[in-house]
Amino acid sequence: MTVTRRNLLKGAAAATAVATASASSVQARASSDDWQPAYRKLADQGLLDERIEAIAAHYDQCRLCPHQCGVNRNARETGLCEAGARVRIYSHTPHFGEELPLVGRRGSGTIFFSHCNLRCVFCQNWPIAHEGRGRLVNDRELADMMIDLQRRGCHNINFVTPTHVLPNIVQAVGRAARRGLRIPLVYNTSGYERVEVVRLLDGIIDIYLPDLKFMDGAHSQRLAMERAGDYPAMAKAAILEMHRQVGTLVTDERGNALRGLMIRHLVMPNEVAGTREFVAWVAENLPLDTYVNIMPQWRVEHHAFEHEDIARGITVGEFLDAMDWAREAGLTNLDERAVAAEQVYRQRLGS
Ligand code: SF4
Repeated sequence: MTVTRRNLLKGAAAATAVATASASSVQARASSDDWQPAYRKLADQGLLDERIEAIAAHYDQCRLCPHQCGVNRNARETGLCEAGARVRIYSHTPHFGEELPLVGRRGSGTIFFSHCNLRCVFCQNWPIAHEGRGRLVNDRELADMMIDLQRRGCHNINFVTPTHVLPNIVQAVGRAARRGLRIPLVYNTSGYERVEVVRLLDGIIDIYLPDLKFMDGAHSQRLAMERAGDYPAMAKAAILEMHRQVGTLVTDERGNALRGLMIRHLVMPNEVAGTREFVAWVAENLPLDTYVNIMPQWRVEHHAFEHEDIARGITVGEFLDAMDWAREAGLTNLDERAVAAEQVYRQRLGS
């Protein structure tokens, strides 16, 4: 049986209640009454502005990501990500397709940034990431979007593909904080990060949501960008730094995420993503209750059909193997929707 979007969504929806009742692990809880987002604490200490300046300086000679192009984006030069010094945004909206601790009842306030510094051949957002579709906005308008998402009741601000526009993001966060922004910030990244830059986000970001897509640099070089053969090393180092800053996931009394690390891993056909190695790495390097989302929603998108080993859907067996490996490695905090999908497939297979 192949995992299709239709049977996955149908099965996961049917089993959501079951999964909620039998989630692999309970998150650490904190009271939302006395909780403050990281950036507000940094602002209270008078340190937010100098951090913003340090990050903004990167546009003069851009080394924001491992490509380290060194271009002057303030002088309209562009590097491999093709982004300029003004941010381009595809959409800002409450989103209900993210992990349940981010979605809650009123959605995750996602802001989708155009362009990307990794550009995988199988990208599901390729019109935004590869073609740069979206509209240019200034930092004041970006701050307006954050305030608007908070006003609409979103539980967090979720920056999707933020790495290459960090200066705009932090400057807008500074503005929005002065105007009363008080919900957590989610850094939703491909994982292709420089650890030196992630360190600058210490005390600004509350929730890190990185992918760990490839465990073999030959695959990231072939299926992402040619210069991204160092993806596994860069992503692993960045994730360890993210965990150092925010620890494992903490939620409020309603189960909404407040702070912590949540890792995503998309299962690919023919073990191209290195799932067995991925779960072993998490188990060896992070607490066993690290939140891990083993995602079954692989689709043959964009140029994936040109690569024989990934030009098909994943099978149910491949997804169930991935969940088995995660448990065998000792991981105890697996995403509820993934567990729900797993339960449905096991019931159908009678196993
Ligand atoms: S963010 Fe863009 S310009 Fe800057 S180093 Fe990365 S790819 Fe190059």
